[in-house]
Amino acid sequence: MFNNPDLHCHSIVSDGLLSPTALVARALTNGVDLLALTDHDEIGGLDEAIVAAKDAGMRFVTGVEISVSWGDDQTVHIVGLNFDHRLPELVAGLARVRGGRDARAGRMAVELAKVGIDGAYEGALKYAGNPALISRSHFARYIVERGFAPDVKTVFDHWLAKGKPGYVSHPWAELHEALGWIKAAGGIAVIAHPCRYRLTATERRELYVAFKALGGQGIEVVSGSHNEAEQREIASVAREFGFLASRASDFHGPGESYIDLGKLVPLPPDLTPVWAGW
Ligand code: AMP
Ligand code: MN
Ligand code: MN
Ligand code: MN
Repeated sequence: MFNNPDLHCHSIVSDGLLSPTALVARALTNGVDLLALTDHDEIGGLDEAIVAAKDAGMRFVTGVEISVSWGDDQTVHIVGLNFDHRLPELVAGLARVRGGRDARAGRMAVELAKVGIDGAYEGALKYAGNPALISRSHFARYIVERGFAPDVKTVFDHWLAKGKPGYVSHPWAELHEALGWIKAAGGIAVIAHPCRYRLTATERRELYVAFKALGGQGIEVVSGSHNEAEQREIASVAREFGFLASRASDFHGPGESYIDLGKLVPLPPDLTPVWAGW
């Protein structure tokens, strides 16, 4: 049994600020006893994290957070946990999803230049390191660096959230593809931070129904993105749909996240944790 699982965080292999090794060290300091690294559409940090966790004597499972296009130009995130990260079908699928990021970043930079923020592609690339990994978080850091905003949250509110000048729509994976890759690799699929999406109540239910019909099993009940009322709401969803419950900080780095690794409240005791069989 685990006392302090944290099954969602990011390293420099996507839009986090710490290396996989540094994340494992921080998790250990914070008392985490079961960790998953879930970089966006990327599994390149897992081998390093596996070694670091083994050295630290901490239980680690593989993870990934897949960007999925859903409904009317919405993006939802599906976390995969405890899978074979060498499965060719999964490796190729994720490479394809990442492959769209560079062109999207170019389009974002064009839009940002129109509102007076120049050099954004090069600026974001400097933070990302690799064109296949460029995310809105890297643009946000560049825009803060340029002095247009005090922090990344403000950048999203003014420029990068859907409907703002630097937002461009993008085709990510389909829901059935993301679930297919995770299942083929022997993993468990989990709906990430369900309350973060700007969906109506009806659309939210449609997501849960479609996810379950495609073999999705889990949902993040305790999340760094959820307040107490939202946690209660998603706990009810887990009961109604029979979803396994996950506990997930979504830590990106010191100073950039609401909640640190392992600083989450416990799951409601009647729910079945996603880690129950591990
Ligand atoms: P992308 O995958 O490039 O669309 O970037 C999405 C990432 O941006 C998320 O994983 C978060 O790390 C970050 N993000 C999205 N919305 C916000 C927000 N409102 N404030 C801060 N970070 C955000
Ligand atoms: Mn992120
Ligand atoms: Mn996410
Ligand atoms: Mn995340």
